[in-house]
Amino acid sequence: MNNDLLAEFVPPTLDSRPFWEGCNRQELLLQHCQACHHAFYYARRLCPACGDTRLAWRAAGGQGCVYSYSQVQVPFQGPAWQSQLPYCVVLIDLEEGPRMLSRWLAPRGEVPRIGQRAQVVFEQVGQQKLPFFGAS
Ligand SMILES: [Zn+2]
Repeated sequence: MNNDLLAEFVPPTLDSRPFWEGCNRQELLLQHCQACHHAFYYARRLCPACGDTRLAWRAAGGQGCVYSYSQVQVPFQGPAWQSQLPYCVVLIDLEEGPRMLSRWLAPRGEVPRIGQRAQVVFEQVGQQKLPFFGAS
């Protein structure tokens, strides 16, 4: 994958750093609330269900299904993305509950089916592995 794509990425915050470090170990980590046991994505300081601050990271299985997708035809993120077109962004409903925005890995132009089973696939881009999804 084109390493220039990382040029516009925002560096991890203290809250999101464990998630990105997990990706580099090929682990998909989710935050869990220790008060109400809610699992959620993306990284936050408070549980979005109950507001508690007692949070822990746990490895997810990386399995889910396609909730929705969109095929991108225009390089909205800049010229570095021109070589990626067309690409597909997906919303994946993870087995643990959270819905995750990601990218669908498939031959160029191929899109998923709604409800299709999906598996996380870690792709190296620059110094970071990114959690994309493909058919399982
Ligand atoms: Zn909670």
